[in-house]
Amino acid sequence: MVTIKLPMTPQIEITLLGTGGGRFATITQKRRTAGIHIISEDLNFHLDPGPGALVYLISEGLNPQKLDAVFVSHCHPDHYTDAEVLIEAMTKGTTKKRGVLVASRSVLHGNEMRFGAAVSKYHQQMPERVIEALPDTNFQVGNINVLVTEARHTDPDTVGFRFETSEFGSFAYTSDTEYFEGVSKYYGGVRLLILCVMRPSGKPWKGHMTTNDAIKIIERAHPEQAVLTHFGMQMIFKGPAKEAGLIEEETGVPTIAARDGIRIKFGETISVQTSRKAQQGLNRFF
Ligand SMILES: [Zn+2]
Ligand SMILES: [Zn+2]
Repeated sequence: MVTIKLPMTPQIEITLLGTGGGRFATITQKRRTAGIHIISEDLNFHLDPGPGALVYLISEGLNPQKLDAVFVSHCHPDHYTDAEVLIEAMTKGTTKKRGVLVASRSVLHGNEMRFGAAVSKYHQQMPERVIEALPDTNFQVGNINVLVTEARHTDPDTVGFRFETSEFGSFAYTSDTEYFEGVSKYYGGVRLLILCVMRPSGKPWKGHMTTNDAIKIIERAHPEQAVLTHFGMQMIFKGPAKEAGLIEEETGVPTIAARDGIRIKFGETISVQTSRKAQQGLNRFF
């Protein structure tokens, strides 16, 4: 019998493993804080592995030992706590020098302001490559070109990332930032924009993004799809889905509020799937 294997449409799978952000959403785990896991044809990487990243990767059936890169945008615990253990997984329990660590200056070296290095020197020696992510620089990881975007946050070294793929165009992650003149230019032309919208509309907080700020960024960048994540307590209580509706109404850009465990298929089209566990409400503490 001859079996004909049809080629699978290559696409990138983006799992929003955690959608909580800020101190209180983190310490209560009102939403998970496990970051974002991305699988492309030749590269698996994890963005901002906060508390729970390792545990939820495994519980969602993802394999941290298949990671090729770990990205850490800044030196706050909801973004970095599981970075070292994911580096250990990426390097086969520290037995193999492999993979890439991409991290802000504060995460690698600490900064004068108040933050110590968040990844130890010991763990920084394990990956094959360590890239200090400075705004407006770019580099290649696998077949993805990464542009480091500027963010303005309470860790002054915070950065966001824009990922350019050859087949499907680009997607981006703002990380924690307040709105500033020129932020949208980093995201112009992206097809999928993931925004860390910590606060709801009308609740501004220096260094953080509100729904109103997200509207300004999305209006100018005009992506094909916007995804809100990294919700603080006030946002959670107000209802992220309602806030996403507001953004969609104002900008005309399809916008969803992420839920823990959703998977986005990024290919010729962009589609969102809710995980079985998220649907059953088992997303917390499985
Ligand atoms: Zn944060
Ligand atoms: Zn932060």
